[in-house]
Amino acid sequence: MTISTSNLVSAATRPDSNCPLCPRLAALRAETRARQPDWFNSPVDSFGDPNARLLIVGLAPGMQGANRTGRPFTGDYAGDLLYATLLEYGFASGVYQARPDDGLKLVDSRISNAVRCVPPQNKPLPTEINTCRQFLSATIATMPNVRAIVLLGRIAHESTVKALGLRLAAAPFAHGAVHKAGPYKLYDSYHCSRYNTNTGVLTTDMFRAVFANVRKDLG
Ligand code: SF4
Repeated sequence: MTISTSNLVSAATRPDSNCPLCPRLAALRAETRARQPDWFNSPVDSFGDPNARLLIVGLAPGMQGANRTGRPFTGDYAGDLLYATLLEYGFASGVYQARPDDGLKLVDSRISNAVRCVPPQNKPLPTEINTCRQFLSATIATMPNVRAIVLLGRIAHESTVKALGLRLAAAPFAHGAVHKAGPYKLYDSYHCSRYNTNTGVLTTDMFRAVFANVRKDLG
């Protein structure tokens, strides 16, 4: 599969903190700012090293996770599993304490989301995913060394495949699947949400296996 970085839209990598492009999400942001004035309540920026070789793409901020704390996957169950796994495979250092000031550092890795604003019930609409893709595209385009992209769930997978200018049929989503995409390798995983782990869709070992594979490939 060949792609060109010209497929990646050149745009700002981070939206304005009052980004109005998705009216439904902007309205939820305004409501949440009024209800929880001490929370972050803005589009959540990527976390980690722009020169990293590994990019992890999630779905969107959780209401009480990244939307509250301002750092991707920080403060909810999905972050407990993700950061523990990154620490285990050497893609993070320090101690994860579910706070943005816990001093945790990402090592040769970065975390972003397909959608930067918290959506109701963790379910962004297709139009919101399409609108926010410009920031995902710009994020990938401005990471000169990225080689491995872990895609957490079908929405992250599909939005990233589209950002790279590929056809979805050429890279179908499946847990554990690996797709070659030009200079990148895409690694699919079910999302590490509490729902997926509670229902047994994703076990800790299944999740660890994805990152073990990335570590083996990146060395
Ligand atoms: S989801 Fe993305 S495009 Fe939509 S309002 Fe938030 S930052 Fe803007």
